[in-house]
Amino acid sequence: MEEKVFVTKSSMPPFEEYMEEIKDMWDTHILTNMGPKHRELEKKLEEYLNVNQVSLMVNGHMALELAIQAMNLTGEVITTPFTFSSTTHAIVRNGLTPVFCDIDPDTFTLDADKIEPLITDRTSAIVPVHVYGNICDINKIRRIAEKYGLKVIYDAAHAFGEEYGGMGVGNFGDASVFSFHATKVFHTIEGGAVCFGDPEYGMDLYRLKNFGIRGPETVDYVGANAKMNEFQAAMGLCNLRYVDQEIARRKCVFAQYAERLNKLPGVEIMKLQENVKHNYAYFPVFFDEKIYGHTRNEVYDALAAEQIFARKYFYPLTSTYDCYHDQFDANQTPVALRISKRILTLPIYAGLKPDTVDKICGVIESMKGE
Ligand SMILES: *Cc1c(COP(=O)(O)O)cnc(C)c1O
Repeated sequence: MEEKVFVTKSSMPPFEEYMEEIKDMWDTHILTNMGPKHRELEKKLEEYLNVNQVSLMVNGHMALELAIQAMNLTGEVITTPFTFSSTTHAIVRNGLTPVFCDIDPDTFTLDADKIEPLITDRTSAIVPVHVYGNICDINKIRRIAEKYGLKVIYDAAHAFGEEYGGMGVGNFGDASVFSFHATKVFHTIEGGAVCFGDPEYGMDLYRLKNFGIRGPETVDYVGANAKMNEFQAAMGLCNLRYVDQEIARRKCVFAQYAERLNKLPGVEIMKLQENVKHNYAYFPVFFDEKIYGHTRNEVYDALAAEQIFARKYFYPLTSTYDCYHDQFDANQTPVALRISKRILTLPIYAGLKPDTVDKICGVIESMKGE
């Protein structure tokens, strides 16, 4: 039986190293509630990400929900439908209305030129996503936000460790949110973080992740429980030692795919942005069936027949989910709609073997001839 290949495979630190990292918890009995490992990981991440302040959270989704809640927003939030469910749900679960803006066909991020016509007197914020690790048009977005007095919260779940023009990606906007889920470039099993500059906002986040408790007898926020526990933080401390190595190995996989798939007509691979230190988190491929001769779904099926499970990220658009009951019209974001039907993300992770990459490329190449 051939081994199944999935779109990603969680990185693991050496077993003994993790054991060593958690060992002292059998002495301290401190397992959660912003313990020493939680604090140590926050410090280490502030250094690694080159950001002002980091607030760790139990997962990326709660990080995003609370990052939005702590901004005290009302009304409408401009965002992208070409993302993981979490981005849209975090807005809606805060009682806000998402207003979907179309995306740029090259970077798949919010098309900053299409934001302004969507702004109304109810708009309070913009929530863009650095999708596949492509950095949004941060300068244009900042100018628009300043002009209309809007908050900007970046969903940076795909952009761990990236830099734009030498700046850590977590510095952009009023807050940036990372996910440390097991499937991401850097993980804490489940986990996430909010990066920000305003210490006041940091205090609010701290309370929000701990039930809104201000003091032993004072609770002044309807908070959640979003604390990262010590076992998660310990996993993060271990994984952080290897993340540069992980990214370097991903880069090799990315290069191998690019080299072979570049030549295929009707098969478009993602161009890496200039001035960006990339993390090679994803390898999305766009299939133009008129030239290539097959649809994205046919490629997905052909790979699955070989026990290779790519993912249709991001299909369907979040604006078309059943839970949103036809509230939104996907034809308002035609570029996102067209891309979501034609894009496939191929397996990419540090340990993916060159032979497997060859096999995947072989399947895609051989279909072209049919
Ligand atoms: C993974 C992800 C999240 C949520 O992260 P979790 O840690 O899984 O809760 C949010 N947004 C995007 C774009 C993601 O890919």
